[in-house]
Amino acid sequence: MPSATSLDSALSAWRAALGEGGVTSEGAVLDRYARTTQPEGARPACVVYPKSTGDVRAALAIAAEHGIVAYPISRGRNWGYGDACAPMSGAAIFDLSGMNRIIEVNPELGYVVVEPGVTQAQLYARVREEAPGYWLDCTGAGEDASVLGNVIERGFGHTPYGDHVRTLCGMEIVLADGEVLRTGFCHYGGARAAHVYPYGVGPILDGLFTQSNYGIVTRIGLWLYPRPEAFRFFFVRVEREDALGALVDALRPLRMRGILNSAVHIGNDLRIISSLRRYPWETTGGAAPLTPELRARLRREHGVGVWNVSGSLAGTAGHVRAAARALRRAVRPVGRIAFVDDRKIALAHRAVSVLGRFGLGGRLARQLEALIPNYGLLKGIPTDAPVIGAQWRLRAPAPGAACDPRDAGCGLLWISPVLPLRGRDAEDLVAMTAPLFAKHGFDFLATFTMLNERSMVAILNVAFDKAVAEETRAAADCYHAVMGALRSGGFVPYRLSVYGMREWVDREDVFWRTAGRIKRALDPRDIIARGRYVPPLDAGMDSE
Ligand code: ADP
Repeated sequence: MPSATSLDSALSAWRAALGEGGVTSEGAVLDRYARTTQPEGARPACVVYPKSTGDVRAALAIAAEHGIVAYPISRGRNWGYGDACAPMSGAAIFDLSGMNRIIEVNPELGYVVVEPGVTQAQLYARVREEAPGYWLDCTGAGEDASVLGNVIERGFGHTPYGDHVRTLCGMEIVLADGEVLRTGFCHYGGARAAHVYPYGVGPILDGLFTQSNYGIVTRIGLWLYPRPEAFRFFFVRVEREDALGALVDALRPLRMRGILNSAVHIGNDLRIISSLRRYPWETTGGAAPLTPELRARLRREHGVGVWNVSGSLAGTAGHVRAAARALRRAVRPVGRIAFVDDRKIALAHRAVSVLGRFGLGGRLARQLEALIPNYGLLKGIPTDAPVIGAQWRLRAPAPGAACDPRDAGCGLLWISPVLPLRGRDAEDLVAMTAPLFAKHGFDFLATFTMLNERSMVAILNVAFDKAVAEETRAAADCYHAVMGALRSGGFVPYRLSVYGMREWVDREDVFWRTAGRIKRALDPRDIIARGRYVPPLDAGMDSE
């Protein structure tokens, strides 16, 4: 915590530099930023609102002068990974949501250049208007989440451009000493290939500014996915619990050869059901987790399998037809496949509205409800629907639309280990972790996403009700138990929450010591996002 006098003096300096509205330390505002879906959050000392790269430089100089940690957020929708909270209390949150200019939309080469505050919905609208031949790749974090924050966290979406770091091309970063670094070719004024050739000449520095605290990113170039001639959504329903390994092994050759090129998702029953309804507390009389019988009943009611694959085929009409044939053949031994395209969706909608007039079509409506948001995401349309899944364990329904899980009182801890794209690894992971969820009173919610040709990311989530203290404690215990099991099983997460970092950051590890040495070179006073990924310098982590 900064001392009261240094905070007061910093607040006056920020006010002088950014104007009256450029900073606040009002209690109610700080309380809002401290809200979190994690078991505990961190209350900031103040919130600073830069509007330009120049503002970021000026504001950072003031933070450094007063020894106050500056924690940058783009829009602060890092749900389940720390939300808008810094790792420690007393930071100045640098809320960059006011830096929301879309600097370029290039319809010829299919890229955009954006500032940190640009939202998924905002960029989607602009791309539709100015580059209709392209799709944006969105995450499930909602319409109001930033584009940039997810990219620099190395997040992923759903189209063939799902691996976001692969589409990053040219960055602007404010360093702790106020210098503005431009990566790739961007530091050569007038470079024609600045946003189409990512490597630049010399060392590739971009990676240093993802999942780190080496600078404040103020601009990125990002590639858009060229709208395909043909597009088909597919959905595979698998009824056998023990078919996961066979399913993964059946899909691997298709993914590796590029026949399947979107980010294919395999979700378990409860992961899908939890995005459609809350836990049936009334039926279980308050008991958790679900019994196998009740779980099977919910599956029947919602028309979902034990495992459910969703993805898309995109390309020329001929490619899509051939890929659909190959996919149908590959999955035949394990599950039932269905294909959907725009025409079928429109027909189904019409059918639901006609049947609805006669009080029929409820099941079809429920299936459409499960399908549509995913269908949209596969075409780069942002939606708030997946965020609603965080409400699974709430005892009382959230008021209104409640697209912010913090408003609804949701507890959410993501656990996201990477595994080889191989059936036996998926089965091992489930065998190691699912019993731990049950032991702590939670349902196993899981998806596996084939992010690239050789690996998958498993996303497990501990969903809990923050209003129930006992459940919040159990969620924390469950989280640590699962992380421990993953560590001993050789499964490392692709991304860490503010809450989970300590489990994976090892003081003796040369990797983290080296990360500390780079931090010391760039930000010796440890002002930017202290403790975010790179261990705090004062903890002696970078010493020889
Ligand atoms: P989103 O609104 O897309 O969810 P956040 O603003 O929550 O994204 O960002 C996710 C995380 O990325 C933050 O917690 C922070 O650690 C880091 N981050 C976000 N924006 C920046 C930035 N402009 N520069 C450096 N780090 C950032």
